[in-house]
Amino acid sequence: MSTNHIETQIIRSQTERTQFLEHSTPLYLTSSFIFEDAEDMRASFAEEIDRNIYSRFSNPNTSEFVDKVCKMEEAEDGFAFATGMAAVYSTFAALLNAGDHIVSAGSVFGSTHTLFTKYFPKWNITTTYFDVNQPETIEHVIQSNTKILYAESPTNPAVDVIDLELLGQIAKKYNLILIIDNCFATPYLQQPIKFGADLVIHSATKLMDGQGRVLGGVVVGKKELIREIYLYSRNTGPALSPFNAWVLSKSLETLPIRVEKHCENAVKVAQFLESSDQVEVVKYPFLPSHPQYEIAKKQMKLGGNIVAFEIKGGINAGRKFLNAIQLCSLSANLGDTRSIVTHPASTTHSKLSQEERLKVGITDGLVRVSVGLEHVDDVINDLKQALASIG
Ligand SMILES: *Cc1c(COP(=O)(O)O)cnc(C)c1O
Repeated sequence: MSTNHIETQIIRSQTERTQFLEHSTPLYLTSSFIFEDAEDMRASFAEEIDRNIYSRFSNPNTSEFVDKVCKMEEAEDGFAFATGMAAVYSTFAALLNAGDHIVSAGSVFGSTHTLFTKYFPKWNITTTYFDVNQPETIEHVIQSNTKILYAESPTNPAVDVIDLELLGQIAKKYNLILIIDNCFATPYLQQPIKFGADLVIHSATKLMDGQGRVLGGVVVGKKELIREIYLYSRNTGPALSPFNAWVLSKSLETLPIRVEKHCENAVKVAQFLESSDQVEVVKYPFLPSHPQYEIAKKQMKLGGNIVAFEIKGGINAGRKFLNAIQLCSLSANLGDTRSIVTHPASTTHSKLSQEERLKVGITDGLVRVSVGLEHVDDVINDLKQALASIG
């Protein structure tokens, strides 16, 4: 079976069938599992037998989902969480001690930034950011107590690309645990473990579900690290619900074909924007104009579904543009079948100062489009009429 292509493997691997010989995996909506007798129960709790005990620890639906993500990332093991943030938080909490230090890309998901700056300092865990456009500066900020090197690529919302091979080399040289949040790329487009990542995190809420329905998160990677994360999570309780796991496992079967189409549409949107007079700069990993185009080509199969562009006219033009959008949604989600438009400077990142925003590549006119699966001409027409309305 494992000689099959990944598309086949994730469609054809599933939980063992029940006596009903169902074709599609049923939903195991149960909080606990029963034991044959006292000895079975003892051996199960002693982990002498590998079996389901309680759905906070494991569940057939959750295991099926994790198994598919492990196949896609070529990872040894994994654990699934209720949300992407539960995955991020629990990974750090399980692996770090008071006094440890994190080196992270300066441009990370908003709530991850809040963990680094507001919550981890409570336990004397500190973080230093590096400039995503100068990863060669990483070595200057590594300290004797640095334990984790962390990054997302492509970044949100500026769509910068970070050289994963370089991160892998630095992590190895300094004996750091390299953790990559691979949410924007999905394992179909990019497999960070091949470049030296020890752990890969996903918010399954985004392209993995891909239809804006359920929240979920997952961490996969080295067996001994996953073991620590599993033990921490088994006791602290951030586990994914079996229902969401059942939805997500089915969604993974269509991930490759959906992501192919998302990328095909995104390239066309990016090319249209690049040809528009009202647009200053377009950032899309697979446009030759992208500053890290060569790196993107090296580590990604296609460019992803997120396009960032700079509207002429700053904050006001950005706001006018959002107001004129008709088809696309104004929403905080991304990676949905429906195209979504956001203007970070006036919304998600409005609490930061202009200087702080610029540090992570958010200029006043930056617009982020999560390109969906509608007919791409309709998406382009919507963007076109909204740009025209700015005047
Ligand atoms: C959305 C997102 C998260 C958080 O995931 P949730 O499922 O919303 O908790 C983490 N990292 C990145 C890059 C994201 O886009």
